[in-house]
Amino acid sequence: MPVIKELVLEKLSGILIDESKDSSNIVAAGLVSEIVIANDRVFFAISAKKEEKDKFEIVRKKAEEVVKTIPGVNVVRVSLTSHDKSPSDLSRNDNTKKASNKQSVEGIKYIVAVASGKGGVGKSTTAVNLALSFRNLGLSIGILDADIYGPSVPKLLGLKGRPNPGTGKKIQPLNAYGIAAMSMGFLVDEETPMIWRGPMVISAITQMLREVDWGDIDILIVDMPPGTGDVQLTMAQNVPIIGSVIVSTPQDLALIDARKGISMFQKVNIPVLGIIENMSTFICPKCGEASHIFGKEGAMKEAKKSGVPYLGDIPLEIDIRVGSDLGKPIVEFNPGSICSQSYNRIANDIWLKINSSEKLQIVPNIIYEE
Ligand code: ADP
Repeated sequence: MPVIKELVLEKLSGILIDESKDSSNIVAAGLVSEIVIANDRVFFAISAKKEEKDKFEIVRKKAEEVVKTIPGVNVVRVSLTSHDKSPSDLSRNDNTKKASNKQSVEGIKYIVAVASGKGGVGKSTTAVNLALSFRNLGLSIGILDADIYGPSVPKLLGLKGRPNPGTGKKIQPLNAYGIAAMSMGFLVDEETPMIWRGPMVISAITQMLREVDWGDIDILIVDMPPGTGDVQLTMAQNVPIIGSVIVSTPQDLALIDARKGISMFQKVNIPVLGIIENMSTFICPKCGEASHIFGKEGAMKEAKKSGVPYLGDIPLEIDIRVGSDLGKPIVEFNPGSICSQSYNRIANDIWLKINSSEKLQIVPNIIYEE
């Protein structure tokens, strides 16, 4: 039985903000975000003031319970979001230029750029694992490796071989773990140095984006080249990106570059969906002691300073590195691990932000999610 949005709203209308006699319900008060339904899964957020987080945690749980009683619903994910204005107030904010002003790509609903200010911070690893977490939400996912000079998606997904020209004019992407993938690494040898100049790189990326038969894709993740040079800027200006995710390690040097990435996307009016702190805490596998090799909570502080959402952290974990080298991403091969759960939680938040950003044109800051 298909899950109907109206039924979800009807259920939520029965939930009062608090027990007082004149309390209004959360739907009437404009606290419920856009409701996203993917097969048997329902996602939405409830807006709450930071100081009322505890009170709204009870509301959040109630919301989850009532929506779960709807026939056909198996998974319900409700987040609490924090901002001063309610979602209905925010919907009037129209500063952000819509990604749809740019030429869309056939079959692709949303494009999300995963970017970093510098190389080696785990951008591609994060892009691949997020792709799998999005897939776990029941979405159909593609990944475009735009990191022409250092394509690592083939290795991370354990993919070898060349894409087929297909029967039509378009190239068929390769597929791993249910993810459609396209990378320069499929076309040139891993050892071959790329000596292309900017315009050639842009042309190659454009072809990989527009001349590939992606099929029906909910989210195409673009693993951006590191940095904020001309290539990145041209891409940001020409590709209809719904939002960007910035990956950084916590140390100052990486964060300076991450800041440049944030301001580049802001300049071209692409919403920054948030920052992820990668290689955050290291837990010694022998003694269990936590150490902060690259510093502590740097990305979280940077997010606050730059006024962009903080999406969460991924620990420095040997299993991530080993799995990446073997083409066995952790979200696929150890789904119960803390890291995989972090990737899943972040993907869930991003998916909510994408859906609400379309309506709200501004991205709420998620403060708490189970
Ligand atoms: P980038 O795309 O930013 O250049 P990569 O994703 O290629 O970075 O990652 C660089 C190296 O760091 C790879 O060897 C990868 O396996 C490793 N790595 C990335 N994230 C983590 C992590 N959270 N824990 C351990 N190793 C990681």
